[in-house]
Amino acid sequence: MGTNQPTVGFIGLGSMGSGMTRNLARNGFPLVVHDVRRAAADEVIGMGATWADNPADVASASDLVITMLPTPRHVAEVASGEHGILAGIKDGGTWIDMSTSVPEPVDQIAAANAHRGLHLLDAPVSGMSVGAANGTLQIFVGGSAEDYASVRPVLEGMGDPERILHVGGKGAGYAVKLMINQLWFSHLVATAEVLAIGVRAGVDLAVLRNSLVASPANSNFIERDVLCVLNDGDYDEGFAIALACKDLGLSIDLARSVGVPAEVSALVEQVYRRAKASYGDRAGEMTPIKLYEDLLDSPLRLQATLA
Ligand code: NAD
Repeated sequence: MGTNQPTVGFIGLGSMGSGMTRNLARNGFPLVVHDVRRAAADEVIGMGATWADNPADVASASDLVITMLPTPRHVAEVASGEHGILAGIKDGGTWIDMSTSVPEPVDQIAAANAHRGLHLLDAPVSGMSVGAANGTLQIFVGGSAEDYASVRPVLEGMGDPERILHVGGKGAGYAVKLMINQLWFSHLVATAEVLAIGVRAGVDLAVLRNSLVASPANSNFIERDVLCVLNDGDYDEGFAIALACKDLGLSIDLARSVGVPAEVSALVEQVYRRAKASYGDRAGEMTPIKLYEDLLDSPLRLQATLA
């Protein structure tokens, strides 16, 4: 390619990975890509990326490998076996898992491959599919300081340089990401409940929300994030509720494994699972608000109440 940029191997070209690879391509990184859905690669191949038939071929053809997959099970799946990353990655190679996941799959790999000198990092992201498409992701990196410094230029090809953070050793990135999602989902459920109660009590939705925003109970969620539902009825299908439920389950697992009770988080997880059961796996991450709208028998919409 005539550049000094490392060749990046990228596995998982879904809502997030497609935007992330487009930005890496725009920023001049040679790419080797793979997904179980071949067609998911068409666009980035049109930008110069090379297709590989399996994760081993991705790893052997690149200087570092990135995975952006739905769940820890998928991460474990692409790692091992005859055609897995471990079969192709060079000794001393680097693998960054950017999925929202837990440390176990990568820890097991690290333990079983200690002699190979692999550099393993977790670097999950926030910023939704829009942030992936715009290259403005927030990235939370767990790993050694040296590994972080060496992969940072690649991360800058996908994220906002000011919001790429080294948050601790291996596994810390996963933990920070899970806690962010847990708190955000908790805000969502608590806000929906409060709005439903207030509206049922006869308060105008806009008046109620304005009062909450001006109060000590204000949050980013009620001030900004909830507006896509209240204004537009957009429940963010870019992030499927099935994945939100996965994150909540992982968050509870993490709480259990470190021995901290998670009463509130567990309840939020149940509300999310109810929404997933009611509206389907592909419904948007903000669909739990609909549960409360169904109770009210009317959507929570600002225009409707202002009319
Ligand atoms: P997605 O389901 O849209 O994409 C996942 C991709 O992985 C798909 O293209 C799928 O075909 C591919 N895949 C699955 N198994 C595979 C395998 N064995 N080998 C190769 N490819 C495989 O998911 P997404 O929304 O892009 O999310 C990816 C990760 O990022 C998840 O962990 C999610 O929790 C996290 N995340 C998502 C968002 C969002 O807004 N969508 C935001 C932040 C973090």
